[in-house]
Amino acid sequence: MKLATGAIVIHNGKLVDGNGGAPVADGIIIVRDGKIAYAGAAETAPPIGPDAQRIDARGGTIMPGLVEAHFHATYFNVADLPDLDTKYPAEYVTLRAAANCRLALECGYTAARSCGSLFNIDVWLKTAIEEDLHPGPRLATSGREICSRGGLMDWNPDYRQIGMQGLMLLIDGPVEARAAARKLVKDGVEWIKTYPSGDAAAAGGANDQHAICMDLDEMKAVADTAHNHGLKVTGHCRAAQSIKNALLAKYDCIEHATFMTNEALDMLLSANTPVVPALQFEKASATLGGQWGLSQAVIDGHWETLDGGMQSAQMILKAGGRLGMGGDYGFAWTPHGTYADELVFFVKDAGFTPLEVITCATRTGAEIMGRDMEFGSLEAGKLADILIVDGDVLADISLLSKRDKFIAVMQGGVVKAGQYAATMSDLSSSS
Ligand SMILES: [Zn+2]
Repeated sequence: MKLATGAIVIHNGKLVDGNGGAPVADGIIIVRDGKIAYAGAAETAPPIGPDAQRIDARGGTIMPGLVEAHFHATYFNVADLPDLDTKYPAEYVTLRAAANCRLALECGYTAARSCGSLFNIDVWLKTAIEEDLHPGPRLATSGREICSRGGLMDWNPDYRQIGMQGLMLLIDGPVEARAAARKLVKDGVEWIKTYPSGDAAAAGGANDQHAICMDLDEMKAVADTAHNHGLKVTGHCRAAQSIKNALLAKYDCIEHATFMTNEALDMLLSANTPVVPALQFEKASATLGGQWGLSQAVIDGHWETLDGGMQSAQMILKAGGRLGMGGDYGFAWTPHGTYADELVFFVKDAGFTPLEVITCATRTGAEIMGRDMEFGSLEAGKLADILIVDGDVLADISLLSKRDKFIAVMQGGVVKAGQYAATMSDLSSSS
């Protein structure tokens, strides 16, 4: 991805650095050749040359670009589990996924960790984004996911004689688990996503939110293979035992970690394993899912999951653990483009402070991606991946859900979206 050239000064804004430190009231950022040269108080800033391009934050907020930590580029309009699989051909899904990436960037998400994709689409999207062929967040890829046969993600009945080829690698036992992980190594993914447990989406059936869908030996086979090749591994873990198993297998991240026990929390903290709760999805499923025909058992399961997940997230943050912000957007009731509703949820429903939530959504997100040395906070030497918002985000977190309030979304100092980008394209089209 190309970096900006020359100097840019972002001034007249409250600076929120992404590290959780106190905001700087009159903050300034100096960008040189796409990287941050200075971020801090205006009064202590080094001199700025007259040729620097200036961006006025209009008294609003200057913060790091957001990181969507649980992103599914290929999900769209999902109202039922089978909608996740090959409902449409790969060609069309690829185009929709590209549009979703553009939208995520316009929503202020300058980076995203894919948590499962149809076929190998996210790997090639990442390539296209890195080549500046198409706009989108800096991606961490995962390709197809792994689940054991008969588990949550193996829903096609045998009489239909179709598998789950688009979305899943189905396994039985550690030998097949290792083979699936090795296939993903060859596909070029960075993360391997597994399904150690069921979900409320299957509540009332054999793979509900308390069901185990992979055995510990299968999880260890995936994790050991992934680690041997320098890949990371994560898992959809709701059932208490699935969380413990993921920690025993040395997973690098846990998705949801819904029904957390004290024992699992101790293990999580000592390994410093991050968790991505994804709770707005549960709230929206419970409150809106009825309109899309979700059964009462499924809705009840989502309420139970919301309750468990909220307690778990609060326990983790209070104990000093790490949480990423992201959340399965792409369902009918949580469409792409509403990603920041996750942040609003954590402030308004879970009682986190806006500063805590922003730290989770920036620095911790970058840490989960393994790229916190490059982005995720406003510090000298890091890429100028910056979001400038018209208004005080710490006073009103919901501003992050309002794209029309974005003055600029920058990657490597290049303005990619927001009002300032519109101004620039107006200028270029009139010239
Ligand atoms: Zn997901």
